[in-house]
Amino acid sequence: MMEEKNTYQINLKDIKKNDPQYVASIFSTGNGHFGIRTSDPILADNSGGCIVNGFYEESTINYGEEAYGYPKNNQSIVLLPDLRTIFIKYKDNFFNNSEVRKIQLNMLSGELKSSYLISNTSGDKIVLDVLSIVNQCNSEQFLIQYRLTPMNFSGVISVSKPLTMSSKREKSRDPRKGKNIISLQEKNISLVSNQIIKEFRTNRSKLSIQIGLKNLAPNSKLNNDQIMLKKGETSELKYIAAISEINNSVDQKEFLEDPEEISKDTNCYWQSFWKNSDIKISKKNRLELGIHYNIFQLNQGAGRNGNTNIPAKGLSGIGYDGHYFWDTEIYMLPFFIFTNPDEAKKLLTYRYKILPEAKKRAKELGVDKGALFAWRTINGKEASAFFPAGTAQYHINADIAYAVGLYYNVTKDIQFINEIGLPIILETARFWKSFGSWQLIDEKNKFVFNDVTGPDEYTAIVNNNYYTNRMAQHNLRLAVKLSKKIQEWNYQEFKNHQLDQKELESFSKIADNTYLPYNSNEQIIAQDDSFFEKPIWPFKTTPKENYPLLLHYHPLTIYRYQVAKQPDALMTDMLFPNDYGTDQKKRNYSYYEKITTHDSSLSRSIFSILAARLHYKEKAENYFMSTALTDLTDLQGNTDDGLHMANLGGNWLGLVYGFAGLRVSDSELSLTNNLPNDWESLQFKLKYQARELLITLNHKKDSITRLSGKPVQITLNGNSYLI
Ligand code: BGC
Repeated sequence: MMEEKNTYQINLKDIKKNDPQYVASIFSTGNGHFGIRTSDPILADNSGGCIVNGFYEESTINYGEEAYGYPKNNQSIVLLPDLRTIFIKYKDNFFNNSEVRKIQLNMLSGELKSSYLISNTSGDKIVLDVLSIVNQCNSEQFLIQYRLTPMNFSGVISVSKPLTMSSKREKSRDPRKGKNIISLQEKNISLVSNQIIKEFRTNRSKLSIQIGLKNLAPNSKLNNDQIMLKKGETSELKYIAAISEINNSVDQKEFLEDPEEISKDTNCYWQSFWKNSDIKISKKNRLELGIHYNIFQLNQGAGRNGNTNIPAKGLSGIGYDGHYFWDTEIYMLPFFIFTNPDEAKKLLTYRYKILPEAKKRAKELGVDKGALFAWRTINGKEASAFFPAGTAQYHINADIAYAVGLYYNVTKDIQFINEIGLPIILETARFWKSFGSWQLIDEKNKFVFNDVTGPDEYTAIVNNNYYTNRMAQHNLRLAVKLSKKIQEWNYQEFKNHQLDQKELESFSKIADNTYLPYNSNEQIIAQDDSFFEKPIWPFKTTPKENYPLLLHYHPLTIYRYQVAKQPDALMTDMLFPNDYGTDQKKRNYSYYEKITTHDSSLSRSIFSILAARLHYKEKAENYFMSTALTDLTDLQGNTDDGLHMANLGGNWLGLVYGFAGLRVSDSELSLTNNLPNDWESLQFKLKYQARELLITLNHKKDSITRLSGKPVQITLNGNSYLI
């Protein structure tokens, strides 16, 4: 299967440009614990660095005008030393010219190979081939090997492998970029000739990390290692780096492992990854490559230890300061739920661990019951300094609850619901109950949520954002449903949760009466109460270079108009496909599509899903193509800061929720063939309630094969089959 075409390998020719910052993001490698940006090893141009998931520094947020409840501190992920860097000199003359010849990321083995022609001012030339592997089985190891072939000289070179922080602090007005924290306390823990262990400690957040580096050659040194090179002959240098867990130390045994084993284990890990998650689209090589790249990177960026999550840029860059957003639960988690539920569990466990912070935050917001998750965070505390597009996105609560519900439908893992899921769902449901209020609307008593911001950050602080209300309603219903499941499963556990029937009844009453705004003129679901009172953004007179609008207009200018950064009300047509019939969905789609700028990379994937389900074949394929290649073509223009992780997940959703029309409920899994006309076939795997399914869709005969587990009833193209 694997050799027939190279859609598991990314080369320089597959990407938009050779710019160092962009290349460093695209070829980044990681294992959920740490990520390494792929810099040119001799240039020390600050394009590289190591990023440890959850290792952040705090800094005071300086507001011009303070107000109660504003977050006090920012959290910024730290860019640690570049572990690719190597200094090479010959006769005191450093090699600091470099021409990149090849970079190749093998997604079947996890090996990253690069090749450079390097030279010094005396004209000495070396071909430098670099092989690096991020160990996927022992999360703390990074292996890097350099092969040096002098082209026009023989002699003794001196090689040093530094372990120093970058000195570049970026100043930018682009809110999407991260701060580059460079002032850490550094301490040598051990230093011998061929090995160093250094501790990096943050000043404010009081976190530490240890990084060790060892030259694996016998009798070698880390600094000023003297190596005899012969013209035309290749010499090899091998180093192992160990990156400790946060607040932990490097164990000497990290250095002892045989590099061959690291390579073998990693290979094995990726083989099993592809076994569970492979996707095939016949005769669409470029597209298939893009999709493989996306899920490979999605997996590399996802925290695997239950204490961390998926930063908006994964571990490929410091954009968005390494924060976790709703991106995880709504865009990325489904991939893990359906292909690697154990990993999904870890990601949800992180939310459970920050639940105490969320409870405190609810109180700060004047809501005495329940929990409010931070809009963006690492440590659980709110880190958004701009509340209209931050804290006001209360929907994060319901997004997390939705993901717990999806996890349950797909796995039926009641134990997890009991321990982790239900506490999250109950506390978020309690929040909605205390946060909202009853109001008479059209002579009916309705439950409303005022002054909130939906996913569309170009509209802020409005009453009854449709998405928020619908999601809150779902959150409340889930609390009732899952509480009942626990009651049926184990009455003692039900009591342990201190569940009380009255509270559950009040949740149901609120859910049944949650107000969902509708625009009867346009006959569409209304984004919020005041959306249609505003004029439509002057799209015709807005120059192309003024997009994304957020970089060219004051937020208040944008708020005055009907203009959406990304789908908002439409998200509900994606997440609740049974809410409305096709005609209603078509009207919703056509209205909101016209006013959406796609300034967020979280936009196009949703449009591709909705278009595929509505059989707008051409639109679906176009949106899908852009999401599949967002980073490889630098569509948003800022892949330099890191990959667009939500879009990577959204791309998988485009295939599975869109073209394969997947829907899942408590009692049913169904698929519908919505393939583009020119796709011959699509094949992928799903895990469903302890079964493994292989789905093949084409234009002749669709099939679902059960690869493991017990028979199950599944609906395919409207017919139910026992599979
Ligand atoms: C989007 C948000 C998203 C954030 C992080 C913003 O541009 O509008 O929906 O959560 O980026 O990816």
